Amino acid sequence: MPIPLTDLKKQFETIQQEIDAAVKEVLQETKFILGPQVKLLEEEIARYFGTKLAVGAASGTDALVLSLLAAGITNGDEVITTPFTFIATTEAICRAGAKPVFCDIDYETYNIDADKIEAKITKRTKAILPVHLYGLPCEMDKILSLAKKHNLKVIEDCAQAFGSEYREKKVGSLGDAACLSFFPGKTLGCYGDGGMVITNDERIAKTVKTLCNHGSTVKYHYLMHGFNSRMDTLQAAILRVKLKHIDKWIDARIDNAACYNRMLGDNHGVLAPEVPDYTRHSFNYYTVRLKKNRDLVQEHLKKNGIASAIYYPLCLHLQEIYKDLDYHPGDFPIAEKAQDEVLSLPMYPELTGEQIEEITGVIENAL
Ligand SMILES: *Cc1c(COP(=O)(O)O)cnc(C)c1O
Repeated sequence: MPIPLTDLKKQFETIQQEIDAAVKEVLQETKFILGPQVKLLEEEIARYFGTKLAVGAASGTDALVLSLLAAGITNGDEVITTPFTFIATTEAICRAGAKPVFCDIDYETYNIDADKIEAKITKRTKAILPVHLYGLPCEMDKILSLAKKHNLKVIEDCAQAFGSEYREKKVGSLGDAACLSFFPGKTLGCYGDGGMVITNDERIAKTVKTLCNHGSTVKYHYLMHGFNSRMDTLQAAILRVKLKHIDKWIDARIDNAACYNRMLGDNHGVLAPEVPDYTRHSFNYYTVRLKKNRDLVQEHLKKNGIASAIYYPLCLHLQEIYKDLDYHPGDFPIAEKAQDEVLSLPMYPELTGEQIEEITGVIENAL
């Protein structure tokens, strides 16, 4: 049997009745735009993260754009972030009118190297945008104290880190604001696009809420240049069902990661992910490092019906779209090494020990 990267169908089968009932309720109520489920989900998400507020958006990317704008990021500002992330991170910075300034990553965690950030700060720097890649929290103590010292905003990209914890606190509750993504493949995914901004800052929440609804708080009266970026009521209803199961699902991901670690064990060619003991890694992705033969292993997995992925094969500073930023190969050697060596293996709560054994067996054979 082929093994996918994530098995949304298998998960759906376990919650089908609850989903059917939730969807039916929305269809009967017909409040498709900003229906009651959106507000209820916002309250439940804020409670889950321990933040004061949460505001739904149409996607994780929009949630990032909205939180940057609401935090006051504007034309000509600089935002420091990692070159080893999904394009949405820097796309959002550019959409807010600002310029992404890249900082190399840490070899072991694949996250922005907090010790290298200060050297990137200029007069124009307005914010740091840490991305908790794969679900592993960034070094938030260092990032927050730098931000305080230089009076910068911190906007967390939690798109891959739903439920991850840093020193017993949920990531997303640590900076000025954070974006969540409910893209189907994310740890908490809906059945389409969806996102959310979470924050303790009432002004940010209020601005996001206004921006995402055409810059309006009173119908047909406009206060700012806004967007149409509201969360769908249907997606909110689906997410409310899934949120009830999320901790059990994250625990299953963590168990599966431990199972992978054990089975990869002494396989010299494959380095398992590092997880500092003061973090809870929620394993949106289980990513190993192969210093040699990464592509060969991926080919071999594919031949055996096992999906895998490279997040991400080309760092953002080397992308065509950013050629005007004038970066060059060699600028961020640790990130560039990672792009050539990482491989994400199938990871989802319903993955079984036998499947993990099969996957690690195929990797062993390939090597
Ligand atoms: C998925 C993702 C996003 C964007 O989320 P969408 O909901 O797909 O718009 C942003 N940042 C990172 C790191 C992501 O993985």
